[in-house]
Amino acid sequence: MAAETKKVAQDLSAKLRTQKLRTAIAAIVFVVMAAGLILGVSTGTMSGFGWESISALCPLGAVATMLATKTMVPRAVISLVIMALLILVVGRAFCAWLCPSMLITRIQEFLRTPKKRRELAAETHDKMVDIAKYEITQAKESAGVKANGLSAKALGATYAAGAGDSAATVAAAATSASPANPINAASAASASAAVATASLSAQDKKALSGCGAGSCTAGCASCASAKQPHKKLDSRHYVLGGALLSTAIFGFPVFCLVCPVGLTFATVLVVWRLFAAGDMTIAVILVPALLIIELVFLRKWCTRFCPLSALMNLVSRFSKTFVPVIDDTKCLETSQGVPCSRCAQVCESDINIRHIAYGERTLADCSRCRNCADVCPTHAISFLVFAGAKAKSGARDGIPAPEAQPATVMLDEDALEVPSA
Ligand code: SF4
Ligand code: SF4
Repeated sequence: MAAETKKVAQDLSAKLRTQKLRTAIAAIVFVVMAAGLILGVSTGTMSGFGWESISALCPLGAVATMLATKTMVPRAVISLVIMALLILVVGRAFCAWLCPSMLITRIQEFLRTPKKRRELAAETHDKMVDIAKYEITQAKESAGVKANGLSAKALGATYAAGAGDSAATVAAAATSASPANPINAASAASASAAVATASLSAQDKKALSGCGAGSCTAGCASCASAKQPHKKLDSRHYVLGGALLSTAIFGFPVFCLVCPVGLTFATVLVVWRLFAAGDMTIAVILVPALLIIELVFLRKWCTRFCPLSALMNLVSRFSKTFVPVIDDTKCLETSQGVPCSRCAQVCESDINIRHIAYGERTLADCSRCRNCADVCPTHAISFLVFAGAKAKSGARDGIPAPEAQPATVMLDEDALEVPSA
């Protein structure tokens, strides 16, 4: 593992400031609710909380309850409406800011050896940087044969500047071609002519095509195959379907028996009874064991199996508020051609916000965790109160979506190293 890669991995984890805040908030909420459960104060848990007649149900629990009883339950309907509105505003924020499963994941990470942590972070780093290098190479290759948009023109202007390209030239070309300052007709003509004849030099190709860790023997072909299909329904939706079908068949919400949120509070209760009243039952072993199987052995429970996550995803697709958006004039990849992708390395929801096509999930699964914004070295990511059409692509200021957008390329080979923040 290269020393530089190790350092970048360490730097990233040190910068996750919001993660510490989120963990603290979730821990406080969990402790308060668990204490209420033990002391018999009827505030409920996250599966159903409130005070006496003023209470809300988990959305999946609300749907399952009505399906099981085959009746419209007013409290369940009101809970569903409230939860749907919250998800519309802040997406899957519950997952990153309140869910006890997130706390268990943090504990799991804490228990890893520093070596293991570095290895995992470095593995993700290498994969994401390879993708970034590949995308930059592709962008430059395509800009060599066609001028398709402002960034391609910027590339053309860069080539028109001559063989002695420099960071300043590229930055100037990118700036001159920005929507706020469109290049003039003469520059455009010059750029188009240059684009038509431009091609990668052997040195550029060498600098851009190398896979980060040297672990990849197939070169950039493997990065191309890393694109994700992004189907409308994924594995979580099938688990959700199974949960609802089993509820309809058996007449009670079967999934609630194995829901990690419920199991976490149940673990607190059985352990408390064991020590307080010597109540040794099979549940003392079964409940924590189920929890461990789901969250530790079924890796990526939240993004691959959780039916509540699937339900939130269905509503969150329409969310356009507080969505992370990249300012391409600040992003290292689009403004300087440096294969950075730090934002993708730290996303807990498996979203590659810089290159959406390569992430396992899209922005519909954003949990507003802010990890991406915390690690961005140029502060290019912001959470717009209303992102409008940009909410889907993560692009800003009318610049094309990341996966479709050619990047400007810095030809200085040294600049392709990921910089230390
Ligand atoms: S948005 Fe920030 S972290 Fe992401 S690739 Fe651009 S510069 Fe890097
Ligand atoms: S895109 Fe950013 S805010 Fe959204 S889940 Fe990923 S890291 Fe968190």
